[in-house]
Amino acid sequence: MPGLYFHIPFCHKACTYCDFHFSTSLRTKERVLAAMRKELRERSLEINGTWGSVYFGGGTPSLLTAQELGLLLDEARAVAPVDGGAEITLEANPDDVTAESLEAWRSIGISRVSLGIQSFREERLRWMNRSHHAAQAHRAIELVAKAGLDSWTIDLIYGLPGMTVAEWDEQLTIALAHGMPHLSAYCLTVEPRTALHKQVATGRILPANDNEQTAEFEHGIAKLAAAGLVQYEISNFGREGHFAKHNTSYWQGVAYLGIGPSAHSFNGTKRRWNVANNVRYADGVEQGTAYWEEETLTDNQRINERVLTGLRTMWGVALEPLGEGFRKANEAVVQHYLALEELEMRDGRLILTPKGKNFADRIASDLFLPAE
Ligand code: SF4
Repeated sequence: MPGLYFHIPFCHKACTYCDFHFSTSLRTKERVLAAMRKELRERSLEINGTWGSVYFGGGTPSLLTAQELGLLLDEARAVAPVDGGAEITLEANPDDVTAESLEAWRSIGISRVSLGIQSFREERLRWMNRSHHAAQAHRAIELVAKAGLDSWTIDLIYGLPGMTVAEWDEQLTIALAHGMPHLSAYCLTVEPRTALHKQVATGRILPANDNEQTAEFEHGIAKLAAAGLVQYEISNFGREGHFAKHNTSYWQGVAYLGIGPSAHSFNGTKRRWNVANNVRYADGVEQGTAYWEEETLTDNQRINERVLTGLRTMWGVALEPLGEGFRKANEAVVQHYLALEELEMRDGRLILTPKGKNFADRIASDLFLPAE
């Protein structure tokens, strides 16, 4: 079943590390939302079947009203039925969470909330230029936990400048005390064209080094495993029954439709991405001019994508469907990583070992076939 992604390109503030597409001006909000509904209607023929999941990401979807979110969901339901067990996720910033907003989200069908906590330390939140405070993070989690949702999750960031394993341990201890059923733990990366990049380039910030980040990554895995959370993807940990369905579909190569500025779509053979500019997106949708680019993947690119995403999961990647060509071309590489104990073979699947999880991207790219 295909997934549906809505990119809501607005935020209260610009976080220093963020390179997603968003605007802190709401000037174009009405236009962009109308264009998103139109885009979805116009692409209805691309959908075959029932929505298996819907995901509101961004940006900050929780800054929309429940009515605005509901109109997008109505459009989704008009285009294709939403499966009875579909996961409908809303990314929310803690400062947008109240008992009333949660009730309103539930009433339009939101079944899962993903909270952008990032840190429980006030000084870290200020440094990141987050719009919420530490007290709001705790309060939001308490409200979400008792809202009666099917599931919920929080995001935390490690690998921050000056972070120690002890600080990361403290963050995880606090999160676990809240009883979260799922956690996404992301390592801070310095992306071009971000405020953080400028701070690093001018020497104002000394980023964490690889050893520090690896130590925190490994500590997190051990601590979360001891608490019963399964690392089902490099950055994602969940209790049984709480693995993210929408993201898992991405990693398993299921088709998805992405609606909104900068949103990506994939139908199994073609990848498409919308322009990352709110005005140009709305102009394009309104005037019927192209506001996206697309490429058809070669067989090898499709295989490489399966390897890259599959290897990051605990299920690994099945060798048989990748074909004879892949297996022959990679015989030596696979043997090399098996010998290093960075890969293991289980039931015909290549799976990263705990050691290999530190090198997931490098191992995947060593297995890539030429693009053709
Ligand atoms: S709230 Fe999220 S999308 Fe918006 S700037 Fe911060 S990290 Fe980026």
